[in-house]
Amino acid sequence: MTPNAELKQRQLPESQKTTKSKLLDPARKGATTVSSEKRSASPTGISHLSQEAGKVKTIRDAIRAEDKRLRAAYPFPLGEHWQSVVGLAIYMGSWVVWGVATFAWWTGGLSLPVLMVVNALAISLLHEMEHDLIHELYFKRQPWVQHVMFMGIWLIKSNASPWWRKYYHLRHHQYSGQVNDVEERLIGLGLRWWSPKRLLVTLTPAGTLLVANDIARDDPEFSRVNLVLSNSPVIVLSTAAMLVHLICALGGDAALVKAGVLSAPLHGLLSQRILPALFLYNAAVNFPNVLRQSCLVIISTYCHYYGDIPERDVFFQTQILDHPLLWPFQLFCFNFGATHIIHHFVTRQPFYLRQVTAFRVLPIMKALGCRHNDMGNNFRGNRWVGGEKAVDGKGEMMAGLREEGEDWTATTPRTSDDEDSGEEHIKGA
Ligand SMILES: [Zn+2]
Ligand SMILES: [Zn+2]
Repeated sequence: MTPNAELKQRQLPESQKTTKSKLLDPARKGATTVSSEKRSASPTGISHLSQEAGKVKTIRDAIRAEDKRLRAAYPFPLGEHWQSVVGLAIYMGSWVVWGVATFAWWTGGLSLPVLMVVNALAISLLHEMEHDLIHELYFKRQPWVQHVMFMGIWLIKSNASPWWRKYYHLRHHQYSGQVNDVEERLIGLGLRWWSPKRLLVTLTPAGTLLVANDIARDDPEFSRVNLVLSNSPVIVLSTAAMLVHLICALGGDAALVKAGVLSAPLHGLLSQRILPALFLYNAAVNFPNVLRQSCLVIISTYCHYYGDIPERDVFFQTQILDHPLLWPFQLFCFNFGATHIIHHFVTRQPFYLRQVTAFRVLPIMKALGCRHNDMGNNFRGNRWVGGEKAVDGKGEMMAGLREEGEDWTATTPRTSDDEDSGEEHIKGA
């Protein structure tokens, strides 16, 4: 069924819709049934209630209870009163580690591979800070502080503008796994695992241009012009710096001089002034980001589902990914794969607290049937069910094992539990 056909199906009066569908777990851990027997209102006008709503509530209650217990047990540093101070300390600490390591490398005290690892770890913390700032978990009443922090993060991450990302990240919480989940689709969610596009978006943020057309075809709200204008200042600079560096390292500059394209004075300027600066920029910022961002993209796409999951139902949006094989990747994205599922259930929690709540919450989630170490996810184009034809950016959602006429719009009810994934934040972003 194409997205349009699916949309028409959603727009049918409730009485004309089929009310039951089955999601078969490829891990053969039993079947999960999504039905819309119980219904409640949602902002889209779609009135359904997932059969998993009871589990969703239990999980959310467990996360909140553990959150409350930890904050009470350790008012410093976990109490809400200290949240902005702790965030600022993590932010400043990350910059200090990055600066000291870069200086140590510059003065010969560190090798380049060690610098890459240390700086990738420091920048991964700043990525977590960016995400928490997007959810306004620090300095909510001092937006200028958030903007200053955003600027620093944008420069050091060599990636999308945090202001641009804020809109699409909050939208990710609304439409996770749907065709208009722009943020995840731009990093390859839903593509075949061996797709060249997927490889390129994993290695460089410039690769997002390759999937932008596919997304724009599916989502009229998505603007390619805005994507380029908002994000190009930093991404063009970092991509150009790495390309020039690569060309010169391969002897391309000498070849250009030999061919008469590059004059001798210009080559002198390039090799004596520009290249050393580029080497510093690449070693301190861009090379660590290739390592960090690739690990994050692999883990993020591995733990999200796409294309054949019910709309707005957190139970089906992500999995718990804590397989030892993936630990090297998890290292550079703060254990994202194991804990991002908690964030989909409860968004208003700083990243460090989420890691601590995970010890008690993840066993509960596993017991209630949340997907766990579904290692086939990326190899099924991130489909919950999978099938013979995963989609390769053509904008067609795969039906999987869906039976003709089944209703796939079952959702959990919209309550205050949905927190800042609501439209009001999107409009204000
Ligand atoms: Zn997510
Ligand atoms: Zn989020």
